[in-house]
Amino acid sequence: MKVEIAKPSSFLKPLYVPQYTMLGPGPTNCHPRVMHAMSLPMISPIHDEAYQLLDEIKEGVRYILQTKYDLTMVISTSGNGAMEAAICNLAEPGETVAIAINGMWSIRAADIAEKQGTNVIRTEKTPGDVFTLDDIEQTLKEHKPVLLYLVLGESSTGTLQPMEGVGDLCHRYNCLLVLDCVPSIAVVPVYTDEWGVDVVIGSSQKGLSCPPGLAPIAFSPRAVKKIMSRKSPGPVRYFDAITLGKYWGCFGDKERLYHHTLPLSLYYALREGIALVVEEGLENVWERHRMCHKLLVDGLKKLGVDFFVKDEKLRFPGITTICLPGTDLKLVYDYILKKHSTEIGPGAGPTSGRALRIGTLGYNAKPHIVEHILKVLKDALEYAKHAQKEKILK
Ligand SMILES: *Cc1c(COP(=O)(O)O)cnc(C)c1O
Repeated sequence: MKVEIAKPSSFLKPLYVPQYTMLGPGPTNCHPRVMHAMSLPMISPIHDEAYQLLDEIKEGVRYILQTKYDLTMVISTSGNGAMEAAICNLAEPGETVAIAINGMWSIRAADIAEKQGTNVIRTEKTPGDVFTLDDIEQTLKEHKPVLLYLVLGESSTGTLQPMEGVGDLCHRYNCLLVLDCVPSIAVVPVYTDEWGVDVVIGSSQKGLSCPPGLAPIAFSPRAVKKIMSRKSPGPVRYFDAITLGKYWGCFGDKERLYHHTLPLSLYYALREGIALVVEEGLENVWERHRMCHKLLVDGLKKLGVDFFVKDEKLRFPGITTICLPGTDLKLVYDYILKKHSTEIGPGAGPTSGRALRIGTLGYNAKPHIVEHILKVLKDALEYAKHAQKEKILK
């Protein structure tokens, strides 16, 4: 036999990756300590050192999610995988699942729930708006879903869902509450236990400024009871919460069962990302994000931009969505990327082609970074005005 597929020549050159200031909806730039942690040596996923690492991360995640839930852990997948995991553990095929839709992520959650064979009820709100208790109660009353999927910080539109009373309301109707906090953890307050959230999901690459690929997740005792009483086994072993929980030592068992080989470098990085939050203190982390968002909004107002989310109180401080009527958004986006090596988010889902998204998450939630993006945006707006005028004259 002969090697017929030739050597790909691209591999004979080193990998080139540009350095951007990452101010989109994620990933963000990583703290140098996080990058450094990834070069630590490999260990076996069933050695004591690995279990110690998981135990520490578990305690850190409980702090960040403000939860005492036993079944708190991290799954080796990005936020999308955590969405799949939350739904596939709680809902069985044929059961009714309600999705509160006001942006791209809830649309995706509905798609996931449908692929898993559940009966999906879509409760819709205009993108840029959030759900009231009345909106939610109507759905619960009419459809009696086993779970409600709700997004806290909606990164495609920039809203922040108020949580007062939502958990109690769901439980009164015997419905479990899944809260998508993927871009919200370590950015805005997430009070898992106090809000009565039954499954909360997060991610490593947004507020925690770690590489993408890991998702903190916690299940309430109510959620565990539902999983234990399933008539059918879950569809995906990799995401099976109980099997995973045994590996993470969540049920107090002495013996821990191998589940999968951890992407260890990512876990080292996550431990460091959590350490940075612990050192600063969660309240200070939230306050830093709030303050940077305010600085950004004040500066943006001076530039005369419009905000996609009209009600200031409903804006997610991690991601600010702006509209620039009469301005070519693609021109602005490309200019900022190429001229200033700065990545912002284009619109996505309902804001696609209608808005730009500026992320001030984690490591990048700093006053000097806010000043940088304001300066860069001002320059880009002048450039776009000029370029568009030239085009008209031609
Ligand atoms: C980013 C995001 C996700 C998906 O996370 P990935 O890590 O990109 O898979 C899910 N939900 C929300 C609200 C998000 O902002």
